[in-house]
Amino acid sequence: MRILRAGKRFMTIELAQLQVTMLSDGETAMPLDCLLDTEGQPLSPEALAGADLVEGGLRLPVRAFLVKGPAGCLLIDAGAASSWHKGLGQLQAALTEAGFGPQQVTAIALSHTHVDHLSGLVDADGAPAFPNAMRVFVAIEETMAFRANSRMQPVMPRLVPLEQGDGPFPGVTVINAPGHSAGHMAFLVEGRLLIWGDLVHHAAIQFARPEVGWKHDADLALARQSRLSLMRLAKRKGLLVAGAHLPDPGIGHIFRQDGRYHFRPVRRTV
Ligand SMILES: [Zn+2]
Repeated sequence: MRILRAGKRFMTIELAQLQVTMLSDGETAMPLDCLLDTEGQPLSPEALAGADLVEGGLRLPVRAFLVKGPAGCLLIDAGAASSWHKGLGQLQAALTEAGFGPQQVTAIALSHTHVDHLSGLVDADGAPAFPNAMRVFVAIEETMAFRANSRMQPVMPRLVPLEQGDGPFPGVTVINAPGHSAGHMAFLVEGRLLIWGDLVHHAAIQFARPEVGWKHDADLALARQSRLSLMRLAKRKGLLVAGAHLPDPGIGHIFRQDGRYHFRPVRRTV
């Protein structure tokens, strides 16, 4: 892995044949009671020690990732646009800063269909925000929810159901990671970078304590199981990990120390 370029809202790394660009959609803050213990109860103030706070809430960056190869560009997740919190919706600006235009995106895959991941598919005028992305991959478990979202009508003809093991783009394989949502997916890029969507919402707490869940996990126990199994996989295989809500620059290594997992972000060296 080599860092090619970096800026305020992006960082591009090179793997073997593919380049991956982290695109920042912005940052928001979430209530402290979003982090839950194994009983489903909010963490105590003691258990929250070490949390990464902003404006008295849990810092939540929002990111998408662009995989570029000879076959075109696959965008993984599309940000919140203007549909969620203020401070988000910067994906298009990030793309421009990274030297891409929206017309270069040839396919899109969603880790899941929550508002901060799909809203950027459609622009403010109700047109597809990525006009040349002729396929929009959505987990088969979530295509119904996607179809029911009236804002997504402009991209509906482009919908392609996605399943475990599928390859939505040359060099990219899908791994089921259910729990946060029914069809939550991770993407393994060239067997060395695992883009794991919403497996971790608050790195400062959930690497050391992967049993801690997130209020918006549809199935807390299943989400915990997926989090643990992909952390183990990433550690065992020495994979780089990338996540929609991981701290800047959203890509890093996972390691174990003192019996706990830790996250070491890649350092922006350019
Ligand atoms: Zn999310």
